[in-house]
Amino acid sequence: MTYHLRENPTWLTGLLNHEADEVDILDNGVWPSPSKCPICWGSGTFRWYAYEAIDAAGVPPMEVVEFECPCVEQWMLHRFFSYCGLSLLYQRLSIRDFSSSEVQDLAIKYIAQVGEYIRYGQGMFLVGSHGTGKSMIAALVTKAAIYYRFSAYFITFNDLVNVYIQTKFSPEKREEMKRRFLGVNLLVIDDVGQEETQNVQQRKTSQARAILDEVLRGRQGLCTFVTSNFPKNTLAEHYGQNVVSLLSELDKKELYSTDFRGDFLPKRTQLERSNHLTRPVVWGAGL
Ligand SMILES: [Zn+2]
Repeated sequence: MTYHLRENPTWLTGLLNHEADEVDILDNGVWPSPSKCPICWGSGTFRWYAYEAIDAAGVPPMEVVEFECPCVEQWMLHRFFSYCGLSLLYQRLSIRDFSSSEVQDLAIKYIAQVGEYIRYGQGMFLVGSHGTGKSMIAALVTKAAIYYRFSAYFITFNDLVNVYIQTKFSPEKREEMKRRFLGVNLLVIDDVGQEETQNVQQRKTSQARAILDEVLRGRQGLCTFVTSNFPKNTLAEHYGQNVVSLLSELDKKELYSTDFRGDFLPKRTQLERSNHLTRPVVWGAGL
C-alpha cells in the first residue's frame, strides 16, 4: 500500500520565464529537472511518516509508511518556494520540526495570525541568540503566507546587501529587485547583524546601514519580519538611530530558549538516514 502527499494547489502553476531564470541563477543545482528527483531518486516511492499522507486514516501519525513520489509536483513546489527565497531545508520543514514546544507554540501563534499581520501591515522583530529557532519561525510564516496566497519573500540580510551591491551598475536589475523587496505582502529579512561577521569592511557596513534603512522605510505600512541576534544597543551602534526607530515600529519578541541545540539537526538526520526516511517538500506550514 502506498500513500499520497497533499496535492499542490491548482493555482500553483509553472514559473514564468523571467521567474524561472531567476531561480536558475539562485538554484544550487540539486534539482535541475523532475527526472532528477532528490526525494525518491528515481525509484518512484519514498518512506516518511504517515502524518503527511492525505489518505492514511487510521494509521498512527508517527508510523513510517511508503509514499508514491509525485516527482513533477514536488519539483514544481521546490521551484516555486525557491522563487520565494526559501532554501530546500526550509522547503522540507513544517511546524512539527521544532524541538522546543515553547518555540513551536510561538510559531503556531504567528502562523495563525499571518493574514492579520499582512492585512494590517504589522511587522515582527524576532531577537535572540543563535539557535533559538527565530529563522525557522520566519521561514514557516513565509510558507503560511504563501499558503494563503499572499506574496512573500525570504532573504538573509547578507544576501540582501549583496544583491544591492551587485546590481549597483545595473539600474534595471536593481529596480526589479527593489520592486520585489518593496512590493511583496510579506518580506522576511533574516539574520540582521550576521553580515557583519562575514564582511567586516567599513565600506560595506555603511552600505548595509543605508540599505536596511531604505528597505524598512520603503516597507512602512507593509508586513516585514526581521530576525537578529543583536541586542538593541548593538543595533544602534551598527545601523544608527534611524534604523532602530524603524525597527521599533515592529512588534518585538525576544527568544531565549534554545530550539536547535547543536546536536539536534545531525541527530535528526542520522535518525532519518538509519530508517531510510526521506523528507518531502511540504506545502504550507503544517498546521
Ligand atoms: Zn520523486
